[in-house]
Amino acid sequence: MYKIIIILLLVIILFYMVRRAFRDWGQPAPPKATPGKDVMIQDPVCKTYVAVGSAVIEEAGGKTYYFCSQDCARHFKRTKPS
Ligand SMILES: [Zn+2]
Repeated sequence: MYKIIIILLLVIILFYMVRRAFRDWGQPAPPKATPGKDVMIQDPVCKTYVAVGSAVIEEAGGKTYYFCSQDCARHFKRTKPS
């Protein structure tokens, strides 16, 4: 008798897990417009990953760029003037 209850319980848990997986899969990706402070973002100059909260932020041509240091930001402005 106990075996049946345990199997039933496992089936229910499995059912919920599968349903949740499908629900997560069906949802669209979260918007990237405003990254959180601890989101890692790639420095376009040296290709290092930096946390948005501690990155050097530069805006160029309507886009926001994140750099690991002032040196990289300066280098970027020299190579891409806009
Ligand atoms: Zn850098």
